[in-house]
Amino acid sequence: MHTALAAVDPEPGDEVVTTAITDMGAITPILYQAAVPVFADVDPLTYNVTARTIEEALSPRTKAIVVTHLFGNPCRMGEIMDLARARRIPVIEDCAQAFGAEWNGRKVGVWGDIGCFSLQQGKHITAGEGGLVTTNDPELARRMYLFINKAWGYGDRNPDHYFLALNYRMNELTGAVAVAQLAKLGEFVERRVKAAAQLTAGLNDLPGISTPAVDRRAKHTYWKYCLRVEGDRFEGGLEGLARGLRERDILCAPRYIQKPAFECQVLSQQRTFGNSRFPFTLARPEAVDYRRERFPGTYEALASVLVLPLNEKYTDQHVAYVVDAIRDAVQQLLRDKP
Ligand SMILES: *Cc1c(COP(=O)(O)O)cnc(C)c1O
Repeated sequence: MHTALAAVDPEPGDEVVTTAITDMGAITPILYQAAVPVFADVDPLTYNVTARTIEEALSPRTKAIVVTHLFGNPCRMGEIMDLARARRIPVIEDCAQAFGAEWNGRKVGVWGDIGCFSLQQGKHITAGEGGLVTTNDPELARRMYLFINKAWGYGDRNPDHYFLALNYRMNELTGAVAVAQLAKLGEFVERRVKAAAQLTAGLNDLPGISTPAVDRRAKHTYWKYCLRVEGDRFEGGLEGLARGLRERDILCAPRYIQKPAFECQVLSQQRTFGNSRFPFTLARPEAVDYRRERFPGTYEALASVLVLPLNEKYTDQHVAYVVDAIRDAVQQLLRDKP
């Protein structure tokens, strides 16, 4: 993400529109590039930003839009790209959780100007740590290549350090593992999709919970499998249902990241470089207005999401076990049994 943002090269105080339901590793690079993250609300059914919520967050200072395909469910890229192209704003796709996902028959990571994929150990494929970026734009590719190499012009006639940049090179060992993992990706994705379809078939008639909202144009590749829970229908609410699942040996994480990113101290207290608060010192007041009522979808999403792990090794038996346990917990904890 840092490499992608460096390639876009914001002026200090420029704005990058993003989501508050994501990994902090997708937000801090915005600040390191001296830009201000501006949070778009999300659709509480898909947990993703939409063209409408992005549009509400745009300003004359918007330098880039980051879209995050959360949990493997792709954003509605057609509408988002129409908006971004009309305004000539580059789009960075955060595909860390969405390897292999598609919108309207095209893979995520090729819709926007740059795609970013993580190889951290918890993702669809891993090389221990690290990640990769994709682009079809030769200028962005050149700038990203330079940025990960301290902007040293390898191969140029008079090479120099052309601009401020870091050593973000992937080492050979990690690269070798990543290449080997890439060969397995297709199979991993299809196995996850199959296990998720079985979970959905086993759970979609249950009261009080909803299986993932997947548009017919979307291929969701299920980094995680999320249930949307009507908390007030269960004893103990969302947490009560989560406890019930854990008592049945089903791991789960209610609320995913617990709170929107802007409630974390780096953003809420503007803890950045020394005591300078930079680059927040350059921000429009509205860009850092994190009042709850501005993010109804974000709060609703976190209050209702129950994240279940999923991996490519799930067998039919595993899925059946999980389905039985969830059905049992729902039956027991539902307040008004139908
Ligand atoms: C994991 C993750 C990241 C960060 O990836 P790293 O490789 O750990 O930097 C960014 N965005 C999302 C959505 C993620 O899930």
